[in-house]
Amino acid sequence: MKNCKTTCSYCGVGCGISLSKDKDSFLSLKGNEHYPVNTGMLCSKGMNLHNTVMDKSDRLLEPQMRTAKHHPLQNVSWDQAMTRAAAVFKSIIKKYGPNSVGLYVSGQLLTEEYYLANKLTKGFLGTNNIDTNSRLCMSSAVVGYKKTIGDDAPPISYDDIENSDCFFIAGANPAWCHPILFRRIEKRKEQFPDAKIIVVDPRKTQSAEMADLHLPLIPGTDVYLFNAIAKLLIQYGAVDYHFLESHCNGGHQLLEFLKDVDLIESAQACGLELNLIEQAAKMIAKSKTLLSMWTMGLNQSSIGTNKNLALINLNLLTGRIGKAGSGPFSLTGQPNAMGGREVGGLANLLAAHHDLANPDHCNKVANYWGCGSVSSQPGLTATEMVDALDDGRLKAIWVICTNPVVSLPDLEKVERAYKNAKFVMVSDISSKSDTLKYADMILPAAGWAEKEGTMTNSERRISYVPKLIEAPGNARPDVDILMHFAQKMGFEDAFTYPNAEAIFNEHRELTRGTNIDICGVSYERLKKNSIQWPCPSTDHPGTIRLFEDFKFFTSDKRANLHVVEAPHQSEKTNSDFPLVLTTGRIRDQWHTMTRTGKVQRLNQHIPAPKLEIHPNDALELGIIDGENVEVTSRRSKSIIACQVTDSIRPGTVFLPMHWGYINGSKQARANNLTSDLVDPISKEPDFKYSAVRVQAL
Ligand code: SF4
Repeated sequence: MKNCKTTCSYCGVGCGISLSKDKDSFLSLKGNEHYPVNTGMLCSKGMNLHNTVMDKSDRLLEPQMRTAKHHPLQNVSWDQAMTRAAAVFKSIIKKYGPNSVGLYVSGQLLTEEYYLANKLTKGFLGTNNIDTNSRLCMSSAVVGYKKTIGDDAPPISYDDIENSDCFFIAGANPAWCHPILFRRIEKRKEQFPDAKIIVVDPRKTQSAEMADLHLPLIPGTDVYLFNAIAKLLIQYGAVDYHFLESHCNGGHQLLEFLKDVDLIESAQACGLELNLIEQAAKMIAKSKTLLSMWTMGLNQSSIGTNKNLALINLNLLTGRIGKAGSGPFSLTGQPNAMGGREVGGLANLLAAHHDLANPDHCNKVANYWGCGSVSSQPGLTATEMVDALDDGRLKAIWVICTNPVVSLPDLEKVERAYKNAKFVMVSDISSKSDTLKYADMILPAAGWAEKEGTMTNSERRISYVPKLIEAPGNARPDVDILMHFAQKMGFEDAFTYPNAEAIFNEHRELTRGTNIDICGVSYERLKKNSIQWPCPSTDHPGTIRLFEDFKFFTSDKRANLHVVEAPHQSEKTNSDFPLVLTTGRIRDQWHTMTRTGKVQRLNQHIPAPKLEIHPNDALELGIIDGENVEVTSRRSKSIIACQVTDSIRPGTVFLPMHWGYINGSKQARANNLTSDLVDPISKEPDFKYSAVRVQAL
C-alpha cells in the first residue's frame, strides 16, 4: 500500500486528502484529519475524486491529429504531433504575426503548468494572447482587490470564520459550491449562536435557507443594496472614522456621496422591503466583525468591478479588515485560480504580480526569462479570443484543460468561431470534452494524482500535489507537453527542466521582493506543510492574515474607497424577453461534467438540468411543473424541463451551467442563451443576467 497527502482538485477551498494505492493500483481516499482547511471533512465531490481517476473509460490515450479539416483524426506519436504543432504555429506567426495565435488555459492547471504556459506565450511566442477560464470566474475580484487594497491579495484566512460574528454572503451559495467552508460557518453558528449570517441572492439557496436573513434582490442590483447598507451604517454609528482618516483614501468622498443615496429608491431598485435592508445593516452594525464573502453573483456581471468595489467599501467603512474575523473574502471557484493569477495567468497580468502595463516590469521579466522583450499591451481575453477567431484575426488556438464550447457565453458564436479557426489544438484528459469536436490536434494529458506540482487555494495557501499513479496510455503531464512544444519551436534553452520542482523554483525566484514573495517556500517544506503567502524566507512561517498593520499594497500604503454608482449595463428586458435568466452550479457537479458526470453517485443528486421558475410566472405562462419549455434569448434557444419553485424570485429564471451536448443534442445548454456582454474593466462575462422569454411547448 502506498499513501500520500494531497489536495482536492475541484474547488478553491483546497481540502486536504489522504490518498492510498493498493498493490492492484486501486485507489481509496479520506479527508486529511491533520490538514488545517478541512480537518478530515470532504464534500460529495471530494469524496468521489478517486473514482474519476480510476474510471479510465473516457481517457484520451494517444495524440491525434489531422492534416486537413476534411481528414479524420489519426493516432500519431508525440514527436509527430509536436513537430506538426510547432510547424503550424511557426508558419501562422510568420505569415500573420504573433498576435494571430493564442492559448486558452484553466484554473485547474497546476502552478508549474500555468507558469510555463505564460512564459511560453508572453515571453517566447511574442504575444500576450493567453487567457484562462478564471476570466469567467474571478477577474472582477482581481480588479476589485487591486483598486482597493493595491494588489490581487485576498487578505483573510479561513481561521477568520471561527473568529467572526457576522457573515455577509453575497452572490454565492457556499453550501453547494464551497461546502467545507460552509460547514465551518455552520459549526461557528452552532458554537456561537449570536453570529449572524446574511445571504444576498435572488434564489433561496441552501445557504439562504440557513441564514438569519435572506435578501432576495433583483439580479444586478447589488450596488444599490451595498450603497444603502453603507448609508445605514453611518446612521447606526458603525463607521470607523479613525480608520478612514488614518489608513484610507476616498472616505470623505464616499461619505458625501452616500448622503444623497435615497434609501426608499434603493430598496425599490433592489425589489426589497426597506425593512430587510435595515435589518441587514443593523446586524452588521451590532457585530464586532464583518466577513464579506462573494463569488459569481458579483463577479459574473457587466458591472462586476463596481459590485466588488461597493462590497469592499463596507469592510473599509467599518475598519473591518486586517483583524481577526473580518475582511473581504472572495470564494475562488477553481482549485488553482489563485496560483494561476500568481504566475500572471490572465491576458492583462504578468508573472509574480508584476504589472503588464508597466514597461519596467515587462523588461525585468523579459530579462529573467531571457526572451528579449515582453509586450506591455494586454492580449485577448477569453471572449475576445472568440470574437477574434470568428472574424479571422486569431488563426490558431491551444486550449488546455478547459471546455469553452460548453462554458463560454453565447455558444452559437463560440462554435462558429472554433469552426472558423485555422488550427485548434486541445490538451485534455477526457474524450467527453465538447471542444474536441473542433480540434485539429488532440493531446492526451495526465490528471490529478498522475503528476506533481503545486496549487494555491482561496486563502493564499500553497500546497504540494504529488504523483501517486501513472497516467494511462501515452497521456503526459502538461509541463512535459508544454516543454516538448517549446523545444520544437526552438526554445529549448528556456524550456528544459529536470522536473516540476525546477519550474517552481524559477517561479519562486521571480516573486522575490514582490507582495507575493514566496522565496521561503520549497517542495521540501511543502511536502511537510502547506504555507500561506507571502513567505519571503526559509524561517518565515507564512502569513495567516494580511494587513494587520493596516499598511496596504497601494503605493501610499492606504486602502482606497470608491464612489460607485449603479448604472444598468446588462441587456434590457422588454415585452419579447421579459424574464431575467441567471445561471450557476449545482451541488454535485463540477464545470462541464467531464469528471463528475461519470460518477453515478454524483449524478443522482440532480440527474438532468431543469429551469427554475416562480409559480406566478409559471401560472401566467401556462407552464406545468416538470414539462418541457422553450427558453429563448436574443441569441438562441434551449428546450428544457422546468421546475416550478418559490425558491426563486418572480421575474427571474435559473439554469445550471454544467450540461453540454446530451445524447447528441445541444438543446439543454444554458450558454445557448447567455449574453456575451462583459464588465468593461474586468472583461468578465455577464452570466448572471440575460433577457429571455419562456414558453410552454
Ligand atoms: Fe474538494 Fe471543494 Fe469539496 Fe473541499 S469543498 S472536498 S476542495 S470540492
